[in-house]
Amino acid sequence: MRVLVVEDDTGIADLLVRGLRRAGYTAESVSTGRQALAAVPEPDVVLLDLGLPDLDGVEVCRRLRSRSDVAIIVVTARGEEGDRVAALDEGADDYLVKPFGLAELLARIRAVLRRVHPVGPAGPEVLRHGSLEMDLRTHKVTVGQREVALTPKEFDILEALAVDPGRVVTRQEILERAWDAHWYGPTKVLDVHIAALRRKLDAPGLVETVYGRGFRLGPPDGDAAGPAQR
Ligand code: CA
Repeated sequence: MRVLVVEDDTGIADLLVRGLRRAGYTAESVSTGRQALAAVPEPDVVLLDLGLPDLDGVEVCRRLRSRSDVAIIVVTARGEEGDRVAALDEGADDYLVKPFGLAELLARIRAVLRRVHPVGPAGPEVLRHGSLEMDLRTHKVTVGQREVALTPKEFDILEALAVDPGRVVTRQEILERAWDAHWYGPTKVLDVHIAALRRKLDAPGLVETVYGRGFRLGPPDGDAAGPAQR
């Protein structure tokens, strides 16, 4: 799945592209409407900032839609409700209001891809690691046969770890994913959520701390919560 980020703020564009690639998408960015219209090959999803330096974002949306069924998610700043409505009228599939977190973006992309390609590959729907199972569509989490009720933040943190079990995910990556693409606040808040997540999962060794680096999921058989379901 190819995602094209159309964003003239290169700092934001780079963060989004990195996050999308970590989540398994092929992602690139362009900074103008003309480049977006000229992108080859045609992407599967366009994340379209409406405030572009050359063309009106709504016009870019209209032209993209007139020639393909590419999924279009428009991005607006607060106070641009009029543009957002116009873009939806011109065929945009969904919208995000800045600032938004990476987890929210990924959820919107999965949702629009399900609508546009109901039977196509829209990324994994269920993540499994040993006895842990996460359904990304229904947000149901189970360990063995036991259902675990997580808050949205706890779910996002666990998802960040479970998309690539065993890989060390840095604190900053988790914060960007679960909170906001521009998180510069204290990271202590993460420890509070990690502690709650571990308590609820009740699977010792599942969420490992890698000191000085971040967190990762432990070996799939490192817990005694149930039989492996790989
Ligand atoms: Ca802009």
